[in-house]
Amino acid sequence: MSQQSRITSEVDFGRDGKQQGFLRLPHSVHRSAYGWIPIPIIVIKHGTGPTVLLTAANHGDEYEGQIALMKLCRELQPKDVRGRLIILTATNYPAAIAGTRTSPIDGGNLNRSFPGEPDGRPTQAIAHYVESELLSRADFVIDLHSGGSSLMYLPSALVGRVSDPELAAQQLEMLKAFAAPIGYVGASGGADLTLLSGAERAGVPGIGTELGGAGSTSVHSLQVAERGVRRVLKYLGAVPDMDVGPEPAPSRIVHVGGNEYFVYSPDYGIWEPLAELGDEVQAGQPAAAVHSQQTPWREPVVANFLRSGTVLCKRVPGGVQRGDCLYHLATDEEP
Ligand code: ZN
Repeated sequence: MSQQSRITSEVDFGRDGKQQGFLRLPHSVHRSAYGWIPIPIIVIKHGTGPTVLLTAANHGDEYEGQIALMKLCRELQPKDVRGRLIILTATNYPAAIAGTRTSPIDGGNLNRSFPGEPDGRPTQAIAHYVESELLSRADFVIDLHSGGSSLMYLPSALVGRVSDPELAAQQLEMLKAFAAPIGYVGASGGADLTLLSGAERAGVPGIGTELGGAGSTSVHSLQVAERGVRRVLKYLGAVPDMDVGPEPAPSRIVHVGGNEYFVYSPDYGIWEPLAELGDEVQAGQPAAAVHSQQTPWREPVVANFLRSGTVLCKRVPGGVQRGDCLYHLATDEEP
């Protein structure tokens, strides 16, 4: 078994200038015997400075980052850059085209597939390429997410909790430079299987985002995305003369911890929310009532918040199954 990726790049990472093309992921199927999946890639290299990897559509139903990076790659020219930008606007391309969190080809969730597998299914092969070929070249990474189809967030940027204090400090500065309304510490899921966990393995400072969600975008969430990315690129010196607009208010820095920060549906049915995004809630406070469509005369099953905090994330669809995430909280103090 090869440890080398079978994905080939149409762009030369060492060449100066602006290049755009595709990563070619071999995909031999009934309708296309020698075909490949075209994952768009843009590389802009000029002068001396850091290599910044920017990724969107790690989950295909998250749109702010895709729009922000498409606009950025059209705007920026080599003369604007000091160092190198590597931009993936549609990292899990099959999922991005389908507008789904996971890949329609293999069901793979890219952000639960790291460090990946070169000879695995397409999603695993993409994860492996990103970790082995792109994170290995990067000095910094920005991985743009939002809540996707099932969740809605207060517009946030985030960093994982990492063991190396120097890495943690660098990430915190990037988080502050992004200046989303919320900046939270402690990624909300995925542990060592995410792109940012790959960044930590590579010793690369990285930040993520949860910009909005509900399978859509808004003027506000797009503005948070675009301005945040621009501010970080300027802060890192990668695009020193970037126009970043008005001075932002500093992020409210908060923390997301383990299971007690989350509320899950205790039953199947339709859920009635009992709290909204941004609410301050107390431990034991009712969070949601799940009503049974099959047995409407039965009292709803109520789920409570397990601790106090701010509601950072809320489920979107009305139908629920036992185990679906309904909310998660953030706290000003560390967990
Ligand atoms: Zn995501």
